[in-house]
Amino acid sequence: MNDTEPLSTPNPPSVENTAQADAVPQQDNETLSNDPDVDITTAWDRLRQDLKRRILPEQYETWFRRSALVRVTDGAVVLAVQNEFARDWIGRYYRDMLEQAVLSTLGTKRRIEIVIDPELTLKAEAAQRAEVDDPASAAATHAPGAPNHSSAQRASATTRADRPGGLMVNSDVSLNSKYTFDNFVVGPCNRFGHAAAMGAGESPGKTYNPFFLHGQVGVGKTHLLQSLCYLILERFPDYRILYLSCETFVNHFISALENGDLTEFRGKYRNVDVLVVDDIHLLANKERTQEEFFHTFNTLYNNSKQIVLSSDSPPKDIPTLQERLVSRFKWGMVTEIEPPCYETRMAIVKRKSRERGCDMPDDVAQLIAEHVTRNVRELEGAVTRLLGYSSLTGKRIVPDLAREALRDIFQVRRGAPSMNDIIEVVTEHYGVKLSDLQSKKRTNSIAFPRQVAMFLARRITNHSLEEIGGYFGGRDHSTVLHAVNKITRVTTEDTHCHSTVDGFLRSLNGAGLDT
Ligand code: ADP
Ligand code: MG
Repeated sequence: MNDTEPLSTPNPPSVENTAQADAVPQQDNETLSNDPDVDITTAWDRLRQDLKRRILPEQYETWFRRSALVRVTDGAVVLAVQNEFARDWIGRYYRDMLEQAVLSTLGTKRRIEIVIDPELTLKAEAAQRAEVDDPASAAATHAPGAPNHSSAQRASATTRADRPGGLMVNSDVSLNSKYTFDNFVVGPCNRFGHAAAMGAGESPGKTYNPFFLHGQVGVGKTHLLQSLCYLILERFPDYRILYLSCETFVNHFISALENGDLTEFRGKYRNVDVLVVDDIHLLANKERTQEEFFHTFNTLYNNSKQIVLSSDSPPKDIPTLQERLVSRFKWGMVTEIEPPCYETRMAIVKRKSRERGCDMPDDVAQLIAEHVTRNVRELEGAVTRLLGYSSLTGKRIVPDLAREALRDIFQVRRGAPSMNDIIEVVTEHYGVKLSDLQSKKRTNSIAFPRQVAMFLARRITNHSLEEIGGYFGGRDHSTVLHAVNKITRVTTEDTHCHSTVDGFLRSLNGAGLDT
């Protein structure tokens, strides 16, 4: 596939597609045989016209232009869409409307089934383009009484045919259909971030450019960035959006350097309407990539294209970030999302459990909100585990059950701790950021927590010295070894240090320093 080609919609969310299991057709006779009274082409034309009356043109363009009607049976209407993501999205947000449209055009209520068939949808799209190019045939299919969107749609579709919009295929194709503004709980900690992300999505390239969102791990940065992408996908179907993690940008750049195709690389990155880079702090210590990003930024900015960035720290605190990038990142809107306050945590616990079909009792929600304080991802994980535990054991959700199911939160963590767990306890205890630990800074207030983190990583993960060094800003194995030896020595000499590191080990894997 050509890399500059648009992906009409992002790929499927990686999890919970099963929630849409009802969208998969049942292989029974009813769904296999077509209703002889229904001519598929006519039915689809009528249904499409009806849909266009019910939704905004841009919604139709985004979600239904590439859809195709596969068959109509006595009980069901089977629609084909281009990928799992479209299936989930349409199933979640447009099912009721589709049912009404079917009732009004076919005269009887039928179940909506959505299947994935990229080939069929490609054909559908080609047919619609031909239709746009041939107004006579478009007029023939225009249902009487339908509002005449057709000229606007034709104009916009023609533009798109020349320069198609959507999410670019070289994006990180992992947008999650749950990461929408609707699903985001707003509280004092994230109100500005939420409003600014909406503002940037409503008028890309105009109001907040660049839009720089920063905050600790798990506070909702990626969620807001993806919500913004969806908003633009819906409102501006012609806009070309490139959404990716900084890591992907770095990897693309390095392979372009290696393969000598920088021109192509630049073409891809500079020829978009919206560039969204998640976790831009990973540009730390990457001089050449920073240089390249500087030029990408300038080109896009000078052409009033929207730039959206997220980071774990404000621009000035990203280690070794060139001053000219720091100042550019501050040109537009810089907003911080703070860890959620107690009320917001409560609201998130209630919301996440409602989304999973359960009304969490207040005393249990309180218990969770009191114990998981900094990271919404963990809060969400706690809700999922508690609900799973309750349905497995068949026990009612009460505080005691929560204590039993979430022992690790209330006591110590269990299972193999990851690098992120280590980083979390260390950064929280010493009040430093991951970007500090990965920076070249050697002041004791940063070097010491970094050495403790290396020591813990060596002690409780299976990572090699090189891997651990790589994690902390590309340090070599002898630096890690030095850190391990130093902390081993300090913890035997200094009782305060012994008890701190012992506490870290106990909370991470349950066993202390001397076990
Ligand atoms: P970050 O990118 O800041 O590390 P994420 O955006 O990945 O954090 O958020 C972690 C998880 O928490 C996601 O599942 C996200 O949906 C959820 N989340 C974070 N903040 C909120 C919020 N305010 N309302 C609802 N869900 C949230
Ligand atoms: Mg993130």
